[in-house]
Amino acid sequence: MLVILHPNTQESSKEYKNTWDHLSGLKEIILKKHKVQGKGQNLTEIYLIGNTSKINQEEIESLPAVERVVRISHDFRILGRHSKETDSIDFEYNGIRFNQECLHIFAGLCAVDNHKNVKIMMQSLQKEGQKCTRMGAYKPRTNPYSFQGHGKSCLNYVFDLAGEHDIKVIAMEVTHESHIEEINDSLEKLRQPTGVILQIGTRNTQNFELLKAVGRQHKYPVLLKRGFGISLNESLNAAEYLASEGNNQVIFCLRGMKTSFNSPHRNMVDFAHLPIVKRLTKMPVCIDPSHSVGTREMSPDGILDVLHSTSQGIVAGANMVLVDFHPSPKEALVDGPQALHLNELGKFIDDVKISREAYKKRVSLWSK
Ligand code: PEP
Ligand code: MN
Repeated sequence: MLVILHPNTQESSKEYKNTWDHLSGLKEIILKKHKVQGKGQNLTEIYLIGNTSKINQEEIESLPAVERVVRISHDFRILGRHSKETDSIDFEYNGIRFNQECLHIFAGLCAVDNHKNVKIMMQSLQKEGQKCTRMGAYKPRTNPYSFQGHGKSCLNYVFDLAGEHDIKVIAMEVTHESHIEEINDSLEKLRQPTGVILQIGTRNTQNFELLKAVGRQHKYPVLLKRGFGISLNESLNAAEYLASEGNNQVIFCLRGMKTSFNSPHRNMVDFAHLPIVKRLTKMPVCIDPSHSVGTREMSPDGILDVLHSTSQGIVAGANMVLVDFHPSPKEALVDGPQALHLNELGKFIDDVKISREAYKKRVSLWSK
C-alpha cells in the first residue's frame, strides 16, 4: 500500500508526526519512506510493506498529512503506475525536463573515436538547435578483441566540447561502478560544462550490482535499456532495482529483442510495447531505432528503415529517441552500418516533428 502525503509536507510538522506515529503502530507492517520530486513540489510517499489486506484504507486517508492512498497492484512498487491518476515521473536535469509527455532527440556517436568527430558531431547538433546527445566511452563488445571504447581518456574532451556547443545532456553507457566516479571526476574538474544520463546497456539489464550502484547515486538520471532476451516484466523489475536504491529518475529504453525471427533487422523492433510500459509504469520511455533496426536499408518509398521505426515509436508516444549518427559511418569503430550520415540530421529532426504532430493529433482525437 502506498500512502502519498500532501505536497511539501515537512517532517518537522505535527501532521507528519501524527501520521507517522499512527502508521508505525500498524502490526507487522514495515514502513519505507521515499521522496519524489514532482511538478514544482516535493512529495513524500510512504510504502506499507507486509500484509496490508486488513488495513482500512479510509482510516489511513483520514490521517492529517495524507493526500491519497493507493493499493499497489503489481511488483513495481516505486516505478509502477498503480492507478490511472498517478502522475508520471517528472524531473528536470540540467535544464531539460523528462516525463511521459516530453520528446527529446539524443542523436550522437555510438562510440567516441576521436576529438575531430566529436567536435563535428557537436557542431552539427548545435546548428540544428539540439541540446542532447549520445556518446559512448565505455563499450560492451561481444568480441574481446573489438574496440572497447576510449573510456576515461576521452571524457574531458567530450564534456568540454559539449559545453562549448551548449549541449546540456549526454547519454553515456557505464558498464562498471567505477565509471560513475570517472565521469563525476571529469565533470567536476571541468566545472560541470554539461550533464550526463548514465545508460545501462541491454547486456547489463540484469547486472544487479551495477543497478544497485547506479541506483545508490542520485546525481545522475539513468537510462535503462530493455534486456534483449528476457521478458518485459524482468526488465521492468530491473528498473525497479534502481528506484529501490533511491534513484527514481529512470527512463526506460526499448531497443529491440533478439529472436530467431528478427532478421533482416538486427533485433525485432519492439516499439509496440511503448504504450504498455507507459501504462504499467510511470517512466518516460525512450526508443533506440538504431540498435533495433541495425542497418541503413531503405524501403521503396525512399525512407530508411531506421526512420520508419523511429516514426512508429514517436506516433506511439515515445519521450526520447536515442539514435546513432557519424560524420563518416564507414570509418566508425562501432556500429557504422547502422549510423545515419550527418547530412541526414536535419531531415531526421523534421521527420520526428511530423510524427510528433501526428501523435498529438491522435491524442486529441481520442480525448474527445
Ligand atoms: C548502445 O546504445 O551503444 C548500445 C550498446 O546499446 P544496447 O545496450 O541496446 O545494445
Ligand atoms: Mn552501438
